[in-house]
Formats: sequence, C-alpha cells, structure tokens
Amino acid sequence: MIIRGFDVCDIIQTVENKKLKISIAHLYPKLLNLYGDIGNIITLKKRCEWRGIEIEFEEIDIGDEIKEHDLYFIGGGQDKQQRDVAKELLKNKQNLSEQRDGGAVFLAICGGYQLLGHYYQPHNAERLEGISLLDAYTVAGKKRFIGNVTAVTSLVQPNTLVGFENHSGLTYLQGDTKPIAYVNVGNGNNGQDKSEGAYYKNVFGTYLHGSFLPKNPHFADFLIELALEKRYGEKIVLNQLDDYIENRTHQILIGKAY
Ligand code: GLN
Repeated sequence: MIIRGFDVCDIIQTVENKKLKISIAHLYPKLLNLYGDIGNIITLKKRCEWRGIEIEFEEIDIGDEIKEHDLYFIGGGQDKQQRDVAKELLKNKQNLSEQRDGGAVFLAICGGYQLLGHYYQPHNAERLEGISLLDAYTVAGKKRFIGNVTAVTSLVQPNTLVGFENHSGLTYLQGDTKPIAYVNVGNGNNGQDKSEGAYYKNVFGTYLHGSFLPKNPHFADFLIELALEKRYGEKIVLNQLDDYIENRTHQILIGKAY
C-alpha cells in the first residue's frame, strides 16, 4: 500500500483501533545543528504525519529538564558548542542511561554522537566527558575528514547509507557497541578500521550529516518502528510510503566521492 501525504486521511495506522503516537525530544538544537541536522527531525515528523502517526515534540535547551520520550535526537556541532552541551548532558547521565535501558531510541550525529561515548578529547583543550550510552571514545585527529560517505549496513534494507562527513574526531568502539555500517567511500569513525557510526541497544550514532535521514528513509522508518515498539511493547510494521524521490536521491549519492 503506497501512500503519500494527500492519502493519509483515509489510511491511518492504528493499533487496536487507536491512532499511533510517538514522543520525540530534540536535544539542544540551538547549539548542535550543523549542516542542517534539523532535517532529521523534519523527516521523522513528516514520515509519521504521512502515516497518520501523532507526534508529541519537545525541544530541550540548556537548563531544561529531560523527560521520558520514545526518541531523542541530538545533532552535530563545533568543539565550543559541544563543551556547553557536554556539561548539560552530564547532569542527565543517569536519566538518559535509564531511558536507554528502557528501550528509548537515540539518534546522534557527529558532535552529538561523540558526547554519547565516554569522552571527546579535542586538540589542545580539556577533555569533554561523555555520558557513556555507547562504549566508545573519541580523540581529535590531525586531519579533518570532509566529504561524501557511502557505507554498507546490515541493520536495514536496502543495505546502503549515504551522507556527508566533516569531523576531526576519531572514534573507536569497544565491548558490545558495534558499527552501524562499514564505509566503502569516505572515512567513517576514524579512517582506519572502515567502521562508521555505532549502536548499542536502541542508541545509534553516526558521522553522516547531510542531513542523514532524508537521504536514508529506510533508516528513518527503522527508527520510527523501534520507537513505536518501545511505546506499545509490540512490533508495528509501518505502511510503505511512495519514496521515489528519496530513493532516487539515495541511488545518485551511492559511490559519490567528494
Ligand atoms: N567538533 C567535532 C569534530 O570536529 C564534531 C564536528 C561535527 O559535529 N561535525 O570532530
């Protein structure tokens, strides 16, 4: 069943005849929103709206309490903005760890991703403590990785992810934290082991800006289904959308070097 926004009025997804809903929190968008990372929020909202899934949405700024949500998003940013956000995240470390262990979905891009690990060590500056939702750590490298990325993943079908990277941080994964993909164009986590991004439980980090989800609609739906499963306690398969434009864009970007 192929639906688009104009069809949504007569094809509402329900569970036990109740309209579906998910709650989304955007963490610190005034500080971490590099390269249009807000496009990830727009994609999540529209892909729910087109299916008649209600969204409860909250922006979290410095000093705000972080409540329970089904999905948390945090974007990328420069070292200075990361420093301000790192202090806030640390105040919420226990709370967000409990959310993670309760099945909440996290999507973190680049600078936000680095702060979900144990620490980010910038050049010639004090270490930024992370909140260890991921068993990973990041140290600033000598070279800035800038360019298009194509990676292969086993998490979703089709099995490709595309995006744009711009970071000097080199991220290394440990323990049960695994890459979301392996690069065949670009650098990914550290330009050495071909790994890109990381995940543990429902926490997903990636270096892919661009923004990430508009060009990877299959990953957006993967996250929405996980958020629905967290909220309703059962697997809910989303109706297919007419993704011709998104898929065409994705295909054009596959293999596209900088
Ligand atoms: N400041 C971090 C780095 O350079 C993250 C940059 C970003 O979010 N694009 O690695």
